[in-house]
Amino acid sequence: MSKRTEELLKADVQHIIHPWYIVGQNSGIVFEKAHGIYLVDTEGKQYIDMASGNCCCNLGHGRREIIDAITRAINETDFTTSFYGHSNPYTIECSQKLANLTPGNLNHFHFTSGGSESVDSAIKIARFYWYNKGRASKTKIISLYDSYHGASGFSTYATGTGRGALQNAFGSIMPGFTRIPSYYCYRCTFGLNYPQCNLRCARMLEETIQAEGADGIAAFIAEPMMGGGGFFEPPPEWWPIVGEICRKYEVLLIADEVLSGFARTGKMFAVENWNIQPDIMTIAKGISGAYLPFGAVAVNDEGYEVLKGVAFMHGFTYSGHAIAAAAACAALDIYVRDKVVKNAAKVGNHIKQRLDAEFSPLPCVGNIGGMGINYAIELVSDKETKTAINPQVKAELIGKLLKNGIYTRSVGRLGNRLHIGPPCTTTIEEADTALDIIRPLVSELKPI
Ligand code: PLP
Repeated sequence: MSKRTEELLKADVQHIIHPWYIVGQNSGIVFEKAHGIYLVDTEGKQYIDMASGNCCCNLGHGRREIIDAITRAINETDFTTSFYGHSNPYTIECSQKLANLTPGNLNHFHFTSGGSESVDSAIKIARFYWYNKGRASKTKIISLYDSYHGASGFSTYATGTGRGALQNAFGSIMPGFTRIPSYYCYRCTFGLNYPQCNLRCARMLEETIQAEGADGIAAFIAEPMMGGGGFFEPPPEWWPIVGEICRKYEVLLIADEVLSGFARTGKMFAVENWNIQPDIMTIAKGISGAYLPFGAVAVNDEGYEVLKGVAFMHGFTYSGHAIAAAAACAALDIYVRDKVVKNAAKVGNHIKQRLDAEFSPLPCVGNIGGMGINYAIELVSDKETKTAINPQVKAELIGKLLKNGIYTRSVGRLGNRLHIGPPCTTTIEEADTALDIIRPLVSELKPI
């Protein structure tokens, strides 16, 4: 290791408290450069980015058009507030472009600087909606086990995955949040099998609304496909069933598209896979291709009409930041011009075929989940009992992958699902290169 890397890592340990990591430690890697689907560390070693950052670098790294758009914008302005009704041309342009891309009548946007801010804002907007309808008792939020909605206030408590570790260490649990089992069919909470289960998990939403009382519930929030909770997709009937239940009981439907939006599921937004019309949709990550922190909450026409004329006492200093909006405008143009959705669907389909054919039969692969260009391989030490792979063995695998030039991560309830989610612009040849490196390493794993 070079002296420079050593010194950087030493300074890192002394001064940085990393998110989602052990305090006082680091991974031993300092990423310095990135281009295309590759990350490069301070030793000059190149890694294929098989996790797209954390599902945000959808357009790959080093896109000249986005860099130029940021440079142009910052030469004109830096930051001007969006508070008190003020605006800037970049944010206005971004809202118009978004309105052309979001499904149905989701035409109104509150801008944020990331996913957690979007989720917190969406929950506040849902409560604000009911308050303005004269139904202030509708405040509770129902979410799913296994979900990940963020790390800020409300988003932490809406999150269902790893609840103990994510929530208990940070004080008392926030009231007003209820969760129901998710669509994790491989480890069904009810011990049932699809389709004989008759979608027990989706129908649990109705029972929960009845038990809690529809008059107390503001919204149901769910990821259209599970992301950080393990990259798995719902059965085809799941979304239509929960959508219908929400309508029946006047519970707002919030689709959290922070991770699944912008081509990752082979559609611009994942809800399009089921023709679902959410009332509110949260957006972040891919909106700017991750070049700058940005996000939004989309509100439908009906919701907007209810809120119109009332002061919205919520917002962040950087809501609608001009430079981040300029990056998002350039990113949104690329999604459309380069038909990124089509590429993600095509390359994703190829990846899925290879995962099913070549990885599924391996002795320690229990399940393959996901859709579009977002998958996970569930690693088990015994296919029969579905026992999760030993965490030490998994850590060694991640280490070997890094050594062989693959950057990825493990996700899910038990932390044993290996994420396979390269940028949406990846070619079939690039995907093959990565899978050809990953397969022999996964096949070396021994069952016990
Ligand atoms: N919602 C979903 C579905 C996510 O996957 C994430 C992050 O991974 C968030 C919200 C939180 O986003 P952020 O980390 O930008 O705050």
